[in-house]
Amino acid sequence: MRDKQGRNINYLRVSVTDRCNLRCIYCMPEDGIESLEHDDILRFEDILKIVKSAASLGINKVRYTGGEPLVMKDIDKLIYETSRLPGIDDIAITTNGILLSDMAEDLKKAGLKRVNISLDTLNEDKFRSITRIGNLDKVLESIDKCLTLGLKPVKINTVLMRGVNDTEIIDFLNLTKEMPVEIRFIELMPIGESIKLYEESKVDFSEILKQYPELIQIETEKNSTAQLYKLQGAKGKIGFISPISCKFCPDCNKIRLTSIGKIKPCLHSSEEIDLREYLNNEELLTMKLKSAIFNKPLEHHLQEENASRSGKMMYQIGG
Ligand code: SAM
Ligand code: SF4
Repeated sequence: MRDKQGRNINYLRVSVTDRCNLRCIYCMPEDGIESLEHDDILRFEDILKIVKSAASLGINKVRYTGGEPLVMKDIDKLIYETSRLPGIDDIAITTNGILLSDMAEDLKKAGLKRVNISLDTLNEDKFRSITRIGNLDKVLESIDKCLTLGLKPVKINTVLMRGVNDTEIIDFLNLTKEMPVEIRFIELMPIGESIKLYEESKVDFSEILKQYPELIQIETEKNSTAQLYKLQGAKGKIGFISPISCKFCPDCNKIRLTSIGKIKPCLHSSEEIDLREYLNNEELLTMKLKSAIFNKPLEHHLQEENASRSGKMMYQIGG
């Protein structure tokens, strides 16, 4: 359905859990987070009810994210049941890739169409310092596995940070020469843990484009948040996602659901609509959702304010 700005909202991102098996420096506190009460978290059946209502309003794409969606028990079952909902024709996940190589085959059988794997560095030691716990080999294994299984396109989310991984841009570009993946460089957003890193870490994407004139701009799909490029003869692509310097609010087609049942019509707005009390009334649930979509905020204010108004952390919303 269209919101009051006339944007066609057809994409729901669901954070299925705020738990994670990594502790990325820009996303989670080092000591982890306080666990939510079990009763506060949406159950599998609740998520399906909300996705079903959303589908009746024209949502056809669903992305499961988190926290880390693959630590959710029964994520494969959730994907399977989602794939059976009328109107849903695209199911994706965003994952850190640590558990994916072992699960990818079952997830594909369940109905998963596409994956975004987050990977900020190709250097083992740096990977450990960014994620504080992770093992790079597990992520690389997952990328290979998804390519073998044909879970296409495999997109790689790389948050660029000055002084952390900006010296590796060339390594990521070179990776696309032989690997049919889409590397998506993402601007660090000042939200949650990253507010304190933002000023020293932000990277100007227009500078990168000047440094690499060999990048050839290619056509971008409608509603894509990335500006796409390619190296001559490469199998993969390079995307630049610049939510701050080149904001895409006028074309935004998403709403988000948190693991505690709140709809966030805009990632960077404090506005949240609690759906929990409507879970047993399909008609009311759909009405609430409809109004949340219709009233989706016009835009974010990251550039003027240097901080998100969200009031939630990225691991709670899901990126
Ligand atoms: N755990 C999964 C993962 O890392 O892919 C899914 C959740 S994570 C919050 C989703 C995406 O948000 C990841 O690609 C992550 O790098 C990105 N992200 C987290 N904090 C961010 C920030 N402050 N700015 C930009 N991207 C961020
Ligand atoms: Fe976990 Fe993803 Fe946040 Fe990293 S970015 S801490 S993997 S939720």
